[in-house]
Amino acid sequence: MKTGQFLTAAVCLLASAGCLAAAGPDSVPAFTPATAGKLISPPLPRTISSIAAAGAASASETDEPISTSAPSEIPMTPLPQNPLKITILYNNIASDPRLQTDWGFAALVDWQSEILLFDTGGNGAILLGNMQTMEVDPLRIHDVVLSHIHSDHTGGLNAFLEAAARPPVYLLSEFGTSFIQSVKNRTEAVEVIPGMEIAPGIRTTGNAGGKIPEQALMIRTGKGLVVITGCAHPGIVRIVEKAVELTGDPVYLVLGGFHLRDMSDAQMAAILADFRRLGVQKVAPSHCTGERAISLFAAEYGDDFLRTGAGSVLIVE
Ligand SMILES: [Zn+2]
Ligand SMILES: [Zn+2]
Repeated sequence: MKTGQFLTAAVCLLASAGCLAAAGPDSVPAFTPATAGKLISPPLPRTISSIAAAGAASASETDEPISTSAPSEIPMTPLPQNPLKITILYNNIASDPRLQTDWGFAALVDWQSEILLFDTGGNGAILLGNMQTMEVDPLRIHDVVLSHIHSDHTGGLNAFLEAAARPPVYLLSEFGTSFIQSVKNRTEAVEVIPGMEIAPGIRTTGNAGGKIPEQALMIRTGKGLVVITGCAHPGIVRIVEKAVELTGDPVYLVLGGFHLRDMSDAQMAAILADFRRLGVQKVAPSHCTGERAISLFAAEYGDDFLRTGAGSVLIVE
């Protein structure tokens, strides 16, 4: 693999039809050597686009138990040839007005030959309705990853599995036997370990620790890691740190729920400093992040803040 390679990138925010913003050249650190992959290719120039909007809502969620696990450094498959497409299918924050908003999170990851559903929102009918609006066919989804057991992330699972081709569900053993058995009654349940590859170039952090067990998704693009979080109960900084520990890769984008609603100004300042220390290039906080925290990320990141909600489509190429 090459190191210190400079790539050209453009940033484009799209609102359904038009481009709202564009930016110029960008230097991108190269990946560390990786050995575990099926395909080895150098990083390619990438572009990120997103369909944006705003809005907010709130609700509550449930809490559940425990566990931690020790991270280890695991090389990831470098590869992408095609753009990475992330579609936010479920969110309490609005973006595309055609989609129904509801408290929860779900995102579709479409990359290479993989189509993966990360979380399922809280309500199956809303999830399936939003999928239909976004022309997402449940039968084409290969894998499901559940970030954590809270109902605003798992409530749509059963209805989705009924409509889908019973894809395997990647979850944490800490979700508990009754939840895992309920999944096994419908399809294959795969208990993950940190760094486990779900599809080429797509890995899980495994349990990031804390009182509420939670995993995040790590996608190795040519621009760096794209990290997708559900609610970030272990701490959004902890999750990003774990992704860096596991891969050694630069972090291009962190997207999803950051769970910062109760943070003080001092805590938020520390978190923003940690994001900069960790080299996070772009952020797309939504769901449980909290309106004030989202506005602070927007102020800190400027053009590198992506306003996202239900119906946002981000393309990293
Ligand atoms: Zn939660
Ligand atoms: Zn949540």
